[in-house]
Amino acid sequence: MPIAERMKLAEGRPMRRRMMAAMAQQDCGQCGYNCHDYSEAIASKAEARLNLCVPGGKETARMLKTLHEELEKAPVASSSPALAPAAAPPVVTAAPGDRATIRSRRRSVAPPPE
Ligand code: SF4
Repeated sequence: MPIAERMKLAEGRPMRRRMMAAMAQQDCGQCGYNCHDYSEAIASKAEARLNLCVPGGKETARMLKTLHEELEKAPVASSSPALAPAAAPPVVTAAPGDRATIRSRRRSVAPPPE
C-alpha cells in the first residue's frame, strides 16, 4: 500500500500510530527496531534519528520529519496540580456480606473520658 494511502488511513490517530503508518511496514529490522518499536521510539522522543527506515527511503524520512515537527509544535501537557488528574480511588476488595472496620484518619479532638 502506498504511503499516501497509509497516512490517509491513519488520519486522526495518535502520533505514534501515524508514525507507524509512515514506516515501510516490512518489519525487516534494518532500523534496529521493528516498525512498531521504531515509531514508538520516535514518538516518545527516545529516538531522534528519522532516517533509519531504509526500505521506506526518502518518502518515509520526509513524512517522519513532518510528523516530528508536528509533535514538537503540540502543546505540552500542564503539570499544574489544579489540572492534574485526581488520585485513583482506593481499591475495595470486600465481597458483599463481608464485615468491615472503619477507622478514621483524623485524631479525635474530644477530651479523654474522666
Ligand atoms: S527499517 Fe523500516 S521497514 Fe524495516 S523494521 Fe525499520 S521501520 Fe520497519
